[in-house]
Amino acid sequence: MRKPVLAGNWKMYKTILETKDFLRQFHEHTISDDREVVICAPYPALPWLTEACEGTSIQIGAQNVHWELEGAFTGEVSVQMLKALHVTHVIIGHSERRAYFAETDEMIGRKLRTALTAGLTPILCIGETLEEKELGKTNEVVKRQLRTALEDVSPVEVGKLIIAYEPVWAIGSGLAATDEDAENVISYIRSLLPERYQDKVRILYGGSVKPENIAAYMSQPNIDGALVGGASLDPDVFHKMLVEV
Ligand code: 13P
Repeated sequence: MRKPVLAGNWKMYKTILETKDFLRQFHEHTISDDREVVICAPYPALPWLTEACEGTSIQIGAQNVHWELEGAFTGEVSVQMLKALHVTHVIIGHSERRAYFAETDEMIGRKLRTALTAGLTPILCIGETLEEKELGKTNEVVKRQLRTALEDVSPVEVGKLIIAYEPVWAIGSGLAATDEDAENVISYIRSLLPERYQDKVRILYGGSVKPENIAAYMSQPNIDGALVGGASLDPDVFHKMLVEV
C-alpha cells in the first residue's frame, strides 16, 4: 500500500510572520498518521518551519535546489544547506522553473541525482503545456521529461521518488484535469518506471486541486495524493484536503 501524500507548494508566498500564523492555525487540527503532509515553503521560512515542526508529522520541503554541492553560484542553495536545516523534501522541475528560469530536462536530472544522493526526497514535477496537450503529445512529453530526469538514477533510487503530474494548463487556472484524465496519464507514468518500483512510487496530481475536487482524484487507483498551490496557503482549506487524501 502506498501512503497518501498531500504536499503544499507555497510558491513565492508567506513571510515568516505569515508562516507562523499559518502553522498556529494548522496545528489546531489533528493530523492522522496514515497520510503524509509536506509543506514546501520559500527558503527564508525553512529554518523556522523545520524547528517548529520537529516531532510533528508535518514534513518540510524546499521548492528548488542546485545540482552542485557548493561553488560560485550566486543566489543558489545546496542540498547540504537544506539537509543542515532538516529539510526532507524538495520540489524539482516545477513547470514555473522550467518556464521562467529556463530549467531544462538535463538540469532537472542533475538536481534530481544530487538530491537523491544527499538523501532528500525529490518531488519531481512533469506535465505538458496546453499546446502539447492539443497536439495529442501528453504521453510523449511526460515520457521525455521522466526519461531524461531519470537517465542516471539507479532503479533503487527511483523507489525513493515522489512524482507529481502537473499539466501546465491546469496550474493556477481553475481548469483542473478530470480525475479520469489525470488517472490515465498517471498510470502511463507508472508504467514507465522500473517494474520493481511501479507499485512503490507515489504519484501525485497537481493543478487547481481544492477541497471540492480532491476526493475524486483520490478515488482513482493510481493517484496517491496531490501537490497543491493556491489552496495550500490557507490552513483550514489545506487541512480540509488533508482529510480527503
Ligand atoms: P495550483 O494548485 O494553484 O493550481 O498550483 C499547482 C502547483 O503548481 C503546485 O505545484
